[in-house]
Amino acid sequence: MDDNKKHYCDVLVIGSGIAGLSAAMTASESGLDVIVLNKETSLEESNTFHAQGGIVGLGKDDSPQLLINDVMEAGDGISNLAAVTILASEGPSLVEEFLTKKVGVPFLRSGSGEFDFAQEAGHSRRRILHFMDTTGKAIEEGLVEKAKNIQNIRFLKNFTAIDLLTIPHHSTNPLALYKEPQCIGAYVLNNATEKVEVIFSSYTVLATGGLGRIYLHTTNPSCATGDGFAMAYRAGARFINMEYIQFHPTSLFHKDADGFLISEAMRGEGAKLKTKDNVPFMDKYSPMGDLAPRDEVCRAIYEEMIGRGDSYVYLDIASYTKIDIKKRFPAIYEKCLSLDIDILNDSIPVVPAAHYSCGGVQVDSWGRTSLKNLFAAGEVSATGIHGANRLASTSMLEGLLWGVRAAKHIANHFEGEKPYQESEIPLWQPPEKEEEVDPALIQQDWLSIKSTMWNYVGIIRTIKRLERGRADLRYLKNRIDDFYRKAHLNPIVLNLRNGIQTALIVAEAAFANRNSRGAHFIK
Ligand SMILES: Cc1cc2nc3c(=O)[nH]c(=O)nc-3n(C[C@H](O)[C@H](O)[C@H](O)COP(=O)(O)OP(=O)(O)OC[C@H]3O[C@@H](n4cnc5c(N)ncnc54)[C@H](O)[C@@H]3O)c2cc1C
Repeated sequence: MDDNKKHYCDVLVIGSGIAGLSAAMTASESGLDVIVLNKETSLEESNTFHAQGGIVGLGKDDSPQLLINDVMEAGDGISNLAAVTILASEGPSLVEEFLTKKVGVPFLRSGSGEFDFAQEAGHSRRRILHFMDTTGKAIEEGLVEKAKNIQNIRFLKNFTAIDLLTIPHHSTNPLALYKEPQCIGAYVLNNATEKVEVIFSSYTVLATGGLGRIYLHTTNPSCATGDGFAMAYRAGARFINMEYIQFHPTSLFHKDADGFLISEAMRGEGAKLKTKDNVPFMDKYSPMGDLAPRDEVCRAIYEEMIGRGDSYVYLDIASYTKIDIKKRFPAIYEKCLSLDIDILNDSIPVVPAAHYSCGGVQVDSWGRTSLKNLFAAGEVSATGIHGANRLASTSMLEGLLWGVRAAKHIANHFEGEKPYQESEIPLWQPPEKEEEVDPALIQQDWLSIKSTMWNYVGIIRTIKRLERGRADLRYLKNRIDDFYRKAHLNPIVLNLRNGIQTALIVAEAAFANRNSRGAHFIK
């Protein structure tokens, strides 16, 4: 086994969710040689796979302007209109061209063959394309199946990116200091061998998804430890809007549910939130009632829980809809039933959970970050579309569109350049004496990160909480960095290092912004 293995490609895509795979497929169509990295043993595992509700299309009596209005309204006045306009004008037709026609995603249709558009909170029209409540699975499986058969895409699954390779930082040539800083690939851990390998690339697309796992309660799967945010931060890329963490109002409250999401489409279909003694409460908090934007619903639930001393509220669909619940929400029905909750008759116990990062690595309309040759797409990036809060079902659309746009831009500008001198980039140097990792320490550090974020940088923030949170995270980061420098590397160590870095980015941003807006609420 070659411990110092090197790989070469035109485009390195880190992440195989909707953003990564749409970028990889588009780049490959232009003949570029692509490597796609995924830190999981399954190519499909991602936030994308777990998405339930759907993806925005163009409804019947709909228009790009109506979609723009809805996105801007949800973003609470700070969405980037230029990016929102691109999303609304190009997004829905790309869904049709790319996902429906090219990939063959079987979005549900009515008997007459027309799309069965669903309604979701914050949308003024029924415009959500879906595949029951397993839309993400249908999209991700379709993308993987298609991409796997493309010759100039190489998949490295079960590989964790450790750090972006940048010059001058990683160059041994002192004259590299006079070059514009740029990304030339990544150091990656082969999870199976626990050896570090190097990938040299002309362009890199960061598509590592979200960060929900830095919170105690989250809907995100285990890969969402914020790696891309941490790597880009260490590489010096510019960030925006990191204080805006969207909490999903309704994750299943049950010890064995692991943050299982109860789709907002349920409230779109008429379900109502109620206190434990069966009193609906959303009309008290918003003229839109149960269809109010997510942050308002989360705070309402939080207030009800805190005020009454309850640890959850109920979501009742059985009493309020005429639709065939089992047919419309089969995955939710099955999951709840497996935990002895029959949603055809029973109310569902729910709590809010960290769900989506509205901010991220700042990108322009072509996915370019502030670091040369580094692009970003999907949840790790910030186009500015989501502003202070995300409109439901726009994130997969943004990932798809910016994945494609980034790859198109790369392909249009690629001239076979290799922006690195390979001999000037050292191989990975492990510490002289590697220390074995104690899992109890890692577990405790994670618990500290997650509870600090939940209690101090959560749904309702105060300056005092943020001050305390920031100080605790800074202390913890020093300790974890010290531990990282000596540790034998494995995915668990890397996740922890990225988790603490990303938590601190969020906490610092939240502390710096004293104005309540959207998902950043300071009491
Ligand atoms: C339960 C749930 C329901 C949702 N429902 C919807 C919905 O209905 N509609 C909607 O639009 N959005 C929804 N979202 C949000 C949406 O799913 C995500 O924002 C979107 O899928 C993100 O796509 P992505 O390609 O950016 O990242 P992901 O799909 O998360 O993919 C990230 C990839 O990066 C890989 N990765 C991460 N770190 C590393 C590393 N260090 N090295 C190598 N690989 C790495 C991961 O393994 C994964 O392959 C939902 C999210 C969740 C969790």
